Amino acid sequence: MRVFEISRMTNRNGPGIRTLVHFKGCPLRCVWCSTPESQDTAFELRRIPERCIGCGACVSVCPSGAVSPGDGASEVDRSLCTRCFACTEVCAPKALTVIGADWTPEALAAEILKDRIFFDYSGGGVTFSGGEPLMHVDDGMEELYRLLKEAGVSIGVDTTGFVPWASVERLLPFIDFFLWDLKVMDPVRHRELTGVGNELILENLARVDAYGTKVFIRCVQVPGMTDGDENLTATCGFLRGLSCVQELDLINFHNLGASRYRSVGRVSPVLDLEPLGADELERKRELVERLGIRCRIV
Ligand code: SF4
Ligand code: SF4
Repeated sequence: MRVFEISRMTNRNGPGIRTLVHFKGCPLRCVWCSTPESQDTAFELRRIPERCIGCGACVSVCPSGAVSPGDGASEVDRSLCTRCFACTEVCAPKALTVIGADWTPEALAAEILKDRIFFDYSGGGVTFSGGEPLMHVDDGMEELYRLLKEAGVSIGVDTTGFVPWASVERLLPFIDFFLWDLKVMDPVRHRELTGVGNELILENLARVDAYGTKVFIRCVQVPGMTDGDENLTATCGFLRGLSCVQELDLINFHNLGASRYRSVGRVSPVLDLEPLGADELERKRELVERLGIRCRIV
């Protein structure tokens, strides 16, 4: 199973202090994605020019002539790069690094269990995110969940919901709660903005309801894309029929992903958007509550 980031001591991804494990690979391509390095399952080259000390070691070792000295920081021509990652081996200040690391279930469980004292103290646990963590069911995920559950660790899953139902069903017995992303209720608009329709996502969510697993709905508010009142109203209409739903979390759009896009040689598609103001977010929170769903701004 391929991980691209492990964040420790977070408190925004479920109850208590949590370890957040991001898996690589996602079936969606949301235009506002803030973690572009999560999308592709392949290893990628991250370049952070501010860290470069101009030693030139990467230029010497690159077998493809993809690295040049540049002006103050080395430059990478990604059209020539073959992702051999020789440059990352010689870059002492970590201006060039590999995104992605493969873990066995046993090793990853042991890594997560290093934080157990914080879980026990705070009522926290692990939250698996991505990318899409439920994509990796055939890649040791079931064993990882089993090891953590046997150790008494709370497991949360931050999912797009866009996976075969069989994948959800296999892991359901181990999952304490879901953070379930709902983006746009209109299936055509959903496809335009994420690359896939939302039928499977809604169908899976409705099926989870029969199992009683807690679900926290996550709605990112992207100006002009997902933040329409009619979208929130349609979302609440769907959720009112589900008893597994604990609350709807409104998440403001941010553009912090822009530097992440740059680090993998891409440009953020939504550079010119501004987050919603606090008053507007509060108005939306009140709208959701009036529509019968408990709502929080996170
Ligand atoms: S990953 Fe390999 S090919 Fe790409 S820039 Fe580094 S050394 Fe060159
Ligand atoms: S090896 Fe690292 S620090 Fe040295 S020139 Fe290359 S990117 Fe910069």
